[in-house]
Amino acid sequence: MNSASELTQAIKTEAHRLGFHLVGITTPDQPLHLDSYEQWLDAGHHGKMDWMATNRACQRRANPRLILPECVSILVLGILYNAPPSVPPDFGGKTGGVASYAWGDDYHDVLPIRLRALVSFIEEIVGEKVPNRWYTDTGPILERELAQRAGLGWIGKNTNLINPKVGSYFLLAEILLGIDLVPDEPFTTDHCGSCKRCIEACPTDCILPNRTIDSNRCISYLTIELKEAIPQALRSKIGDWVFGCDICQQVCPWNIRFSPPEGDPAFAPRSGLIRPSLKDELLLGPEEFNRKFKGNPIKRTKRRGYLRNIAIALGNMGNPTAVPILSEALNDPEPLIRGHAAWALGQIGAAEAADALQSAAAREENRFVIHEIQTALMTAKGSANAS
Ligand code: SF4
Ligand code: SF4
Repeated sequence: MNSASELTQAIKTEAHRLGFHLVGITTPDQPLHLDSYEQWLDAGHHGKMDWMATNRACQRRANPRLILPECVSILVLGILYNAPPSVPPDFGGKTGGVASYAWGDDYHDVLPIRLRALVSFIEEIVGEKVPNRWYTDTGPILERELAQRAGLGWIGKNTNLINPKVGSYFLLAEILLGIDLVPDEPFTTDHCGSCKRCIEACPTDCILPNRTIDSNRCISYLTIELKEAIPQALRSKIGDWVFGCDICQQVCPWNIRFSPPEGDPAFAPRSGLIRPSLKDELLLGPEEFNRKFKGNPIKRTKRRGYLRNIAIALGNMGNPTAVPILSEALNDPEPLIRGHAAWALGQIGAAEAADALQSAAAREENRFVIHEIQTALMTAKGSANAS
């Protein structure tokens, strides 16, 4: 390979062949958005994702050369997943919503194979080992800023990177490289204009004016990253989402107009994963859960987190036919599941729900669950008196 330009073109061609729809190149300069990111951390908007705020992570984020001292180029890659419908049909309160990136295989499994293959290709054409380090949202790196600098799109008000040709239903990955490549022109236009659709549609009002999100209130964080009880005040806003949330992308005109419906085949929907049956999911035992979600992102919530989310969705749907299985869940070995099942029964508020809560109150020993049962009983009584 004679020149940086030929090498750059060969790498981009191979990246496309490996299934990356977007490919751009930038340099490891100090990020422009570092200040707003640090303010976001100082305000505690990262919630309980403490790994984001460690000194080591902050230093590396400010200077990618601390991750790879030889780094002179950063390859930024985007891979499409399936776009959900912009206006979801009425599901009758029987099924739950799963963010569309999680309908198929886990990108944490899919992307490393392709990134390794791309690094091997680069080393083959360069003819020697090339210092490298790659990430798939797993490292201390401001990947959306890098993607913007690599010309892949702009950071929208909903904080997603939006590409004017394909919208925002894609995942990002980066490879830091110790070889000279030709950087792309940064993407400098903001195509959000006066649009505020994502801000107005967000059920928890967590999209902040400076293009950041208060994770403490974001449904994606609450249903995936948060490992403990979901704050009671936010549960009713989660609606039927049981893993992630697509709303601020579904309403975005750039997705409505330009997102291809189908993404990479690895992320094609597995059977029953687009809209899982809420009642069936609440019955999943540990082995069934592990079997069903092997190789799928939902396994990251573990059974306790997923069934917590399912219970909340059942409570929000308010369907009295869910009372028997929610009552059964009051016996689950996991206090997190028992507590959220109690909350759901309180929301449904039928006489049978109150009976199940009373029985559970007599035998329950866990303090968190007892508190949830007592609150649920008050809610159930309140709704019985009101009707
Ligand atoms: Fe709001 Fe959902 Fe977007 Fe989070 S993912 S910012 S909750 S619309
Ligand atoms: Fe920007 Fe509108 Fe899309 Fe939000 S919905 S990201 S404001 S274009």
